[in-house]
Amino acid sequence: MDDGTTRAQKCRHTRGDMVSEIGLWVCADCYEKLSGWPVKYGPTGGGGPPQNIAWRAEKASSDGISFAEFLCAMSCRYMMRTRPRMQMRDAYDAAIEYLRWMLPDAYGDTAYSWDRDAAVELADDDMQDWDQAEDKSNG
Ligand SMILES: [Zn+2]
Repeated sequence: MDDGTTRAQKCRHTRGDMVSEIGLWVCADCYEKLSGWPVKYGPTGGGGPPQNIAWRAEKASSDGISFAEFLCAMSCRYMMRTRPRMQMRDAYDAAIEYLRWMLPDAYGDTAYSWDRDAAVELADDDMQDWDQAEDKSNG
């Protein structure tokens, strides 16, 4: 689901990680989801299909785990705590949207920690807000 915000330009950042569970590349700077690992191919010179890689985005990692592992830890937490259990793709969407909203700074910013405990904590923080919203609508 698109949140309706228009972005001035398509993501051109050079770090992120391929999240195999959802088959998408997630940018570590703006949390944009792309269809694949950003790669530019150079000419082969022989007139054949361009196959040699001229440039390839960097796999992001911080505090000992990769960006994909961080997102996985967050989404697993959503799935573990929701009843009925949240679908995996929705859980990843929730994790990515929460990061985008919560942290104006890019993944890996040294002001935050990026280990599994931090991922779980972020997911818990997000779900705490859900509970409050539910309480209000029930009240
Ligand atoms: Zn980006």
